[in-house]
Amino acid sequence: MSVEKRIEYLKDEINKSNYKYYVEENPYLSDFEYDNLFSELKELEAQYPLLKSPDSPTQRVGSVSKKFFSHTHKYRLYSLDNTYNDEELIIWYEKICKQYDNRELELVCELKIDGLAIALTYTEGLFTLGVTRGDGITGENITQNLKTVKAIPLKLFDNKTLEVRGEIYMPKTSFEKLNEEALLKGEKVFANPRNAASGSLRQLDSTITAKRDLSMFTYTGIFENSEDKQIKTHYDGMMKLKELGFKVNPNIRLVKNIQGAIDYCKEWEEKRYSLDYATDGVVIKINDIAVQKDLGFTARAPKWATAFKFPPEEVTTKLLDIELNTGKTGIITPVAILEPVQLAGSTVSRASLHNFDEIKRLDIRIGDTVLIKKAAEIIPKVIKVMDTNIHESLPKYLPPKSCPACGAPLIEKEGEVALYCENPNCSQLVCAKIEYWASKEAMDIDFVGPALIHQLYDKKFISNFADLYKLTMDDLLQLDSIKDKSASNIYTAIQNSKTQPLNRLLTALGIRHVGKETAEILAGEFGNLDDIKSATLERLSSIESIGDIIAKTIYEYFCDVENLKLIEELKALGVNPTAKVKPKSDKLQGKTFVLTGTLQNMTRDEASEIIKLNGGKTSSSVSKKTSYVLAGENAGSKLDKAQNLGVIILTEDDFLEMIK
Ligand code: NAD
Repeated sequence: MSVEKRIEYLKDEINKSNYKYYVEENPYLSDFEYDNLFSELKELEAQYPLLKSPDSPTQRVGSVSKKFFSHTHKYRLYSLDNTYNDEELIIWYEKICKQYDNRELELVCELKIDGLAIALTYTEGLFTLGVTRGDGITGENITQNLKTVKAIPLKLFDNKTLEVRGEIYMPKTSFEKLNEEALLKGEKVFANPRNAASGSLRQLDSTITAKRDLSMFTYTGIFENSEDKQIKTHYDGMMKLKELGFKVNPNIRLVKNIQGAIDYCKEWEEKRYSLDYATDGVVIKINDIAVQKDLGFTARAPKWATAFKFPPEEVTTKLLDIELNTGKTGIITPVAILEPVQLAGSTVSRASLHNFDEIKRLDIRIGDTVLIKKAAEIIPKVIKVMDTNIHESLPKYLPPKSCPACGAPLIEKEGEVALYCENPNCSQLVCAKIEYWASKEAMDIDFVGPALIHQLYDKKFISNFADLYKLTMDDLLQLDSIKDKSASNIYTAIQNSKTQPLNRLLTALGIRHVGKETAEILAGEFGNLDDIKSATLERLSSIESIGDIIAKTIYEYFCDVENLKLIEELKALGVNPTAKVKPKSDKLQGKTFVLTGTLQNMTRDEASEIIKLNGGKTSSSVSKKTSYVLAGENAGSKLDKAQNLGVIILTEDDFLEMIK
C-alpha cells in the first residue's frame, strides 16, 4: 500500500472509531489498538509533512454529538500527547529543559482519570454552566445533568469567577452494579466505566443521570480574579481549587524532576488497581505557569504536559472454547477459554462470559477474536467480538440443553436468564456446594480446597458438607499424597470450623441471594439458626434491607425437607453456632460505621469485627443514619457521599483512639 493510501486508511479508521467512541459510546477498537493507529498516523505525517491535512484526526480532539445544545468554549479544551515508556518521558522533559538553560523544572504528577472531560463555569461563586469537551472548540451544554453530580459544588466557598476542568467518572463498583442490573433486565451493558459515565451524563432526562453514581476530580482552574491570576504554579492552583470546595485527587504529587515522575508512574502502575475508579495513566505537567504559557499548545495538545499511558487493561485474543461450569446454586456458567495473553501484569487464559444471553447478545462464537478487559482485582471479562473476516463463517454458539457434568436436562426459570441443573446428585453441583462451604468467604477451612474436595467426593468419603465433619484421620490418610502432618492439619481445620459464627454458617449454606452481607443481617436479627428456620415469610420480609425476593428464597430454603435434614445433621455433628459474640465493651453501642479505602493496620473485615466486639454495627452504604465513615487510603465514592451528607469521617488513628 502506498503511503498516501495508508494515511487515508488510518484517517478513515480513526475518524470512524472516534465517532463510535465519543458519539455512540460503543467503541469497536480497544484503546490500545486505537492508540497504535493514531501513533502510526502521527509518525507518517511527521515523515511526510506534505501529506498532513487539516482534517486529520491528529489535528483535532474528540467529536461533538447533536444530542444537546452546543456551546462554544470560552477557552479551548485540548487532549494530551501520550508517552508509553521512561525513554519517551525523558526525551519530552529534556527537550523542554533545553529551552530553559537545562534548568531542572518541577513537575506535577496526577493520575489520569479515565472518564469524560468537562468544563465548568462559576460566576461569582455559583455554578452557572457545564459543557462537555466535544471537539475542544464546541461542546454540549449539559449543565442540568451536571447539577446532579454531588462532587460538583453548586456554590463555592468564595465568590470567585473562574472556569475549571475536570474528569467525570463512575466508580468501578457502581459500574459493575449498573451492568449487573442491566444484565438481569436483559439490557445493554457498558463496555467500561468511561462509557458508563459518558452515557449516564449525556441523558436527555436528568433524573436518570441523578440515579447514576457519578463523581468528578478537578484538574485545572482558569482563574479570572486578579488576585488568583498571581498564582505562579499549577500545584498552588490545585490547592486553591481544593480550598474553594472542588474535589482534587488526593494522589497529586509535586516532584523535582523527571526521575520523580518516573517513580510516580512505577508506583501507580500496580497500586491503581486498589482504587475504585479507572485510571489509564499519569498526567505529568510542568509546574511553572510562566513556562506553560511560554511553551503553549500544538493543534491538539499542550506542549507542557504529557500523558504516560499504563500498559493496556484491554487486549484482544482468540476464543478457543467455552467451558461450562455448574455452580453451587446449580446455575451453569459459561467461561471463555482463551489463547493465553498478557493483561494488566498477568497471563490470562480464562475470562467470564456472564451468561448465555450475553453470548447471544454479543454473538460470541468459538474461534472469534475477542476483546477482554480486567478491572481492578475482578476476573477478566469478554467485552465484545472484534470485527474480523472469519466471524461470519464460524458457527453460532448454541447454549447447552443438558448439564455438562451429569447430563440432566437444564431448566429455565421464569424471569431469569440463567440455566439451571437441578439434579441434587450432580457431581459438579455437590462439589461446588462443598467448595463454597469451605471457602474463605464462608466457613474458612484452611487446607480444604477444590482438589481435595473432588478427591474426597470421588472416593465416596463425602457427598455433602456435613460429611466433612465425619471424616477421620484414617480416611484422610487414604488420599493421594496426604501424609500424617497434612492429614492432621486438615482434620484440625475442619473441626475448628465448628465454632465459626452464625453469619459464616448462613453464608456457607449457599442459599440463593444470601451472601456475606445478608447473612450478617440475618444473624444479627435472629441470633440463632432455629429462629431463622421457623421465621415466617412476613417476618423475613419485614427486615430492613431484605427485599421480598430474598425473603422468599430464604423462607423456601428452610421449608425444604432435604435442607432441614442437612441442618439437623450438622447440629448433631456439633456445628450449631450462635451470633451472639459477647461484646467486649459497649463503647460503640448504637453507632453504625461504613468502611472504605485501604486501612494500614488491619483489614476492613478485622475492623468490622472490632466494631461488633465493641457493640457497634457496620453497613455497606452511607446514609444520613451512618454515624461514622472510617476512611483508609484511596477511599472511593463512599467518602464523597459522607462528605456530602455531613457524616463524621474518621481516620484509622481516630478509630483506634475511640476503641482504646
Ligand atoms: P486522552 O484520554 O488520552 O487524554 C486527554 C484527556 O485526559 C483530557 O481531555 C482529560 O479529559 C483527561 N484527563 C484525565 N485526568 C487528567 C488530569 N489529571 N489532567 C489533565 N487531563 C486529564 O485523550 P482523549 O482525546 O480524550 O482521547 C484519546 C484516547 O481515547 C485515545 O488515546 C484512546 O485511548 C481513546 N479512544 C479510543 C477509541 C477507540 O475506538 N477505542 C476512540 C477514540 C479515543
